[in-house]
Amino acid sequence: MKGLSNASSQLKPSSTVAVTARAMELKRQGIDVISMAAGEPDFDTPEHIKLAAKAAIDAGKTKYTPTLGVFELREAIAAKFKRENKLEYAAAQIQVTTGGKQALFNACWALLNPGDEVIIPAPFWVTYPEQVRLFGGVPVFVQTRAEDGYALELDALEAAVTAKTKMIILNSPSNPSGVVYSDETIEGLMAIAEKHDLWVMSDEMYEHITYTGKLPVSAAKFNTDRVMTINGASKAYSMTGWRIGFAAGPAHVIKAMDAIQGQSTSNANSISQWATIAAVNDTSEYINMAREAFRGRRDAIVSGLNRIGLPTPTPEGAFYVLADTTRIHKDETEAAKIILEQARVAVVPGTDFHAPGRVRLSYACSLEQIEEAISRIGKI
Ligand code: GLU
Repeated sequence: MKGLSNASSQLKPSSTVAVTARAMELKRQGIDVISMAAGEPDFDTPEHIKLAAKAAIDAGKTKYTPTLGVFELREAIAAKFKRENKLEYAAAQIQVTTGGKQALFNACWALLNPGDEVIIPAPFWVTYPEQVRLFGGVPVFVQTRAEDGYALELDALEAAVTAKTKMIILNSPSNPSGVVYSDETIEGLMAIAEKHDLWVMSDEMYEHITYTGKLPVSAAKFNTDRVMTINGASKAYSMTGWRIGFAAGPAHVIKAMDAIQGQSTSNANSISQWATIAAVNDTSEYINMAREAFRGRRDAIVSGLNRIGLPTPTPEGAFYVLADTTRIHKDETEAAKIILEQARVAVVPGTDFHAPGRVRLSYACSLEQIEEAISRIGKI
């Protein structure tokens, strides 16, 4: 029988999704697993967002919407960009998608040709290189190190540029390292993009979860014309299951992404879209509460892991840490297995993030769970 396509047979399943599914399955079997796998805030979706969803159902807003998203939501997102990021986007420059993943996917599809190189600072979120490869692109990694606080060296970044480079993927705050690039680094990166005529895909999904006291600067602030800004409702408003992401960028790219989505999934869920209007319009109280809770949890997990002999740097953003697990096993996949089997704590091996010798722990769970996880892992 004729087989799978080359693209799908080479596609690696998402390790974050896989470990999360495994933890859910173990819990379903009654096994007491602490899941520190998926990056998913444990807070409930704020009440006013749920009420907006219920009102949308009652008002019959349960039909197709424009593929790009309901106009009112795109207007609300444009207002968010203006208010928080000082960026001017028209509604026609915004696409609403089924999670941030689809926004990235549509943008890769719209911009990449086979053979195009895409520079990705490592460690990186597992999904970027796989999406790039799906469209025949070639990921090129620029490694950053824990010893340097995962700072991005602009010289190293520029050295990776070739005649085939088409795009740089930027993710600040970063999943999984939690690094938040300085304004100067982002400005310098944009100057490199300018000099070599490159696109920048700026994934800003964790912008609200930063402990630096300010919102990180958006790459598009330095040149809106060559940046695709990706964001979404999942992490900022505790709406992972609602599946709402969005992309903003030049109108001709959004138009191409509209056609792509119109031939694949059509609009994102209509009820979730109406709920997201309430989210982007009125959430500062929730966002501040969540950020401060995450800050306390970050401090607890970093000091706990260091105390039990797993060296862990202190991240400035997102809700992940990368712990050095070479004390448990030199291979991080083995270490993650041992941690699951002996401590019943689900963590993601650093392999697919290009973080060798480390595992990623999400601290988007309660302080009690963090303390319990540290105590269990400490006994290994
Ligand atoms: N983005 C989250 C994570 O890295 C959720 C799972 C996924 O989509 O990768 O854990």
